[in-house]
Amino acid sequence: MDDIKYPIKGACQCGGVTYELLEPPLMVAACHCKECQKLSTSAFSITAMVTAQSVKFSGLMKDWSRAADSGNVSAAKFCPSCGNRIYHYDPNEPDKLKLKPSNLSDTSIINPTVHIWVSEKQDWFNIPEGVKTFDKQL
Ligand SMILES: [Zn+2]
Ligand SMILES: [Zn+2]
Repeated sequence: MDDIKYPIKGACQCGGVTYELLEPPLMVAACHCKECQKLSTSAFSITAMVTAQSVKFSGLMKDWSRAADSGNVSAAKFCPSCGNRIYHYDPNEPDKLKLKPSNLSDTSIINPTVHIWVSEKQDWFNIPEGVKTFDKQL
């Protein structure tokens, strides 16, 4: 992971929303909760925790939010034309973003070291050795 050059560019599937990640994420986590299974249309979603100052976005995004299990609000930004999810955030903590990093041009940073909501994990997926796991949220 040492030879990755920042900034890394990202774009939604249609290219209407683009961004630049200026520095390495604070943490990369996989979430196995049912909401993330819906979101990703897969077994889990991957999130890169980043500071708001470390990403520059351009293009129009739409908002959606839901109540999170923690009692907080989970707000989401997505591209209104292709629907690709760009990032999540807690409106009470706007300086921390949960970037959905699969639309980066260099996806080699997407190597989760933390797996959460393992209690809702699909049986066929085996957690890699050496990562931290949590039954529910962090
Ligand atoms: Zn798009
Ligand atoms: Zn989740």
